[in-house]
Amino acid sequence: MNIIPGKQIAADILENLKKETQRHEEKFKIGIVQVGLDAATEIYVSKKIDDARSIGIQTELFVFEESTYEQIKTLILELNRRLDITGYIIQLPLAIDGDLKQLLSYIFPQKDIDGMNAENLGLLWQDSSKPYFVPATVLGILKCLSYTAKNIDPESSNLTETDLLGQFLQGKEVLIINESIIVGRPLAAVMLNHKATVSICHKHTLGLETFLKRADIIISATGVPHLINSSQVKKDAILIDVGIARTSQGVVGDFDFESFSNTDCWITPVPNGVGPLTRAMLLENVCRASAMFSGEKKNSV
Ligand code: NAD
Repeated sequence: MNIIPGKQIAADILENLKKETQRHEEKFKIGIVQVGLDAATEIYVSKKIDDARSIGIQTELFVFEESTYEQIKTLILELNRRLDITGYIIQLPLAIDGDLKQLLSYIFPQKDIDGMNAENLGLLWQDSSKPYFVPATVLGILKCLSYTAKNIDPESSNLTETDLLGQFLQGKEVLIINESIIVGRPLAAVMLNHKATVSICHKHTLGLETFLKRADIIISATGVPHLINSSQVKKDAILIDVGIARTSQGVVGDFDFESFSNTDCWITPVPNGVGPLTRAMLLENVCRASAMFSGEKKNSV
């Protein structure tokens, strides 16, 4: 088993971002909107704040025990106007009634640092040459894949990240087990843009076993503890575990990690795999925001 050390890769990214924020004159600030006091959400949000602080990025938390669609829409419109907010995220799940996708459409695209609004998702699906945000979890997954590519073929380390991923993913069979707008859908677009052959499975898929058997890369984000074990996949498959489940044995992922110990698979651990990379890539999105959109309108007013 080859472990993909997400936490360590994330620490290197944060170190580089810290140097960048120290050099930058512009001060970055992230808004985080949280509704509901779910224990897991509180942990995710506090880790995001800690990481941001550690590299000199300010945060402002808008937390509500309860709220309504109209209140959050009003807050989104205010955050769009505020010049001191570089970008912001709506922490999911959002404990309110109403059409979440419609609500996300009010986020000004250039402040949508988690790439959830339809404009950013649409540009991604077009493989557009215009600038757009890609969700941080998807970028974290790409970091896991580029780490694996470099380790399998050290000569490819000289390539740019885009060329490296292009070379590595072209023609590979990639299976994504998740269909959400934050993971599965944008991830499928990224994989297609890199010329991979993509399958998307979900809880209504019949015969998941058949898809598992033929995939070179499996990215699973179901939250079903130990859904997949080593007998179901290729002996040298690359396995990216996005799922998080809290069980009596602690936090576990979608893959039965121990079952892969005598295989040639590459695998991310849970915890300390994709999670820290997701947070690091959110911060990278913030740092890239002004450069990406330079010359374009900076806020919605
Ligand atoms: P979601 O509920 O929207 O998605 C879950 C997906 O899993 C759905 O597509 C569903 O169809 C599928 N699924 C459920 N049971 C299945 C089964 N038995 N077989 C096949 N597919 C099944 O949730 P989400 O927000 O997309 O998050 C998914 C998981 O990823 C959660 O565990 C979440 O905590 C985790 N997550 C982790 C990170 C991270 O950075 N590590 C980021 C986002 C989400």
